[in-house]
Amino acid sequence: MRISIIGTGYLGAVHAAAMASIGHEVLGVDSDPQRVATLNDGRAPFFEPGLDELLARGLHSGMLRFGCSLPDAARFAQAHFICVGTPQLPDSLAADTRVVEAVIDELAPQLTEACLVIGKSTVPVGTATRLQARIAKLAPVGPEAQLAWNPEFLREGFAVQDTLQPDRLVSGVTSERADAVLRSIYAPLLEAGTPYITTDLGTAELVKVSANAFLATKISFINAMADLCEAAGADVVTLAMALGYDDRIGRRGLSAGLGFGGGCLPKDLRALLARGGELGVAESLHFLHEIDAINSRRRSRTVRLAREMVGGSLLDRKVAVLGAAFKPHTDDVRDSPALDVAVAVQREGARVSVHDPEASDNARAIFPNLGYTPEVHKACDDADIVLHLTDWPQYQEIEPTELRAVVRSPRLLDARNVLPLDRWQAAGWAVRGLGVRIGEPAKMACRIAAERV
Ligand code: NAD
Repeated sequence: MRISIIGTGYLGAVHAAAMASIGHEVLGVDSDPQRVATLNDGRAPFFEPGLDELLARGLHSGMLRFGCSLPDAARFAQAHFICVGTPQLPDSLAADTRVVEAVIDELAPQLTEACLVIGKSTVPVGTATRLQARIAKLAPVGPEAQLAWNPEFLREGFAVQDTLQPDRLVSGVTSERADAVLRSIYAPLLEAGTPYITTDLGTAELVKVSANAFLATKISFINAMADLCEAAGADVVTLAMALGYDDRIGRRGLSAGLGFGGGCLPKDLRALLARGGELGVAESLHFLHEIDAINSRRRSRTVRLAREMVGGSLLDRKVAVLGAAFKPHTDDVRDSPALDVAVAVQREGARVSVHDPEASDNARAIFPNLGYTPEVHKACDDADIVLHLTDWPQYQEIEPTELRAVVRSPRLLDARNVLPLDRWQAAGWAVRGLGVRIGEPAKMACRIAAERV
């Protein structure tokens, strides 16, 4: 099928390359010409494992190309995926859907033949029904231009795999034709046994935001338990492992530490709260405010602990920060807990040196006043404390004895609870985690780290 993908960011670029790889002719459209040029060069405009290869293959086969023109997309494609951003509004908890609306308003008047517009962006429930009416009003082809909603569940860092081998596909449709088009687009994935759920537009929209709200709840739950463990002298890593063996609870996502961030979970949680309020169910969703608050407190808790560890004041201390991305395997720094902490300790007068394997350029673009270095040892040179804030696997390979030789004071705060703290301690480091008991349970943290995503 001829497909257009409108918006080629973390979601759209991967979707475009993946759709080409399963046999569709794909035109990716973005309003950013530089991004389009990079993609047409076969390079991903961001760090995403496996994407460069998939792009190169698609471009080479002639099944994939990128451009800036919506009219070209309207003429070319039988199905149009909308993948533009829906960030949090600056002055409210709600999602900003204006770019999605602008794309529909520009695309619909050019739809002169039967086609399916497929929303993939994460939107508040009710948005699709509103957009469907807008398309019906604006499209010259009338009801032959239909709308479906097909939310995306990919995880950055695993986006290629998650797009080509998703754990499920969800389609919100209003007609059999729309359902048939989506089934035909995803035919190779369905043949491979991917569970496929067809539903109405509103349910499809809600699956995505409620999935993210649930994941956020799970993370904040174990972080609340981390506070309790700390107060009671118990160990949250062992607790999480023991809880996780219960299938009804599950181990994945049950990792206490600095909490969640990124371009999705925080804003989706808040958008759900805002939409729930509009729909008169604020009371039922009120607990999500606390989920958000618990998550924010992880960041202030980490700063407080760092301050305590260096003797009560961060003024003129050298702080080495390991990690800038909001999680490992991505260069995405949107609402990054690591950067939040780095900026907060700098505000208290610390000299901060940040290392991240992939995200330093993105971080520097937002926070140019932090120091950045491409080497862990340089970041830690003369440091009064090392803060482990993003759990890149390579940080687990750091040799504590070697690092000890470059710091001023061997102090480590592992805010992700995954480093082998017993080894660090044995090498003479003063170590802390968030809710962990230092000693034997720290060994188990490594096992959890290896198994979690
Ligand atoms: P992003 O900011 O990385 O990408 C958005 C892209 O849209 C950018 O390349 C931007 O230049 C382009 N754009 C903006 N206005 C445009 C226009 N008028 N026409 C064409 N292109 C335009 O955002 P993202 O992370 O890819 O997220 C996109 C949507 O997907 C959001 O709703 C998000 O919640 C959802 N989502 C994201 C992920 C993820 O992991 N990033 C996962 C699932 C769902």
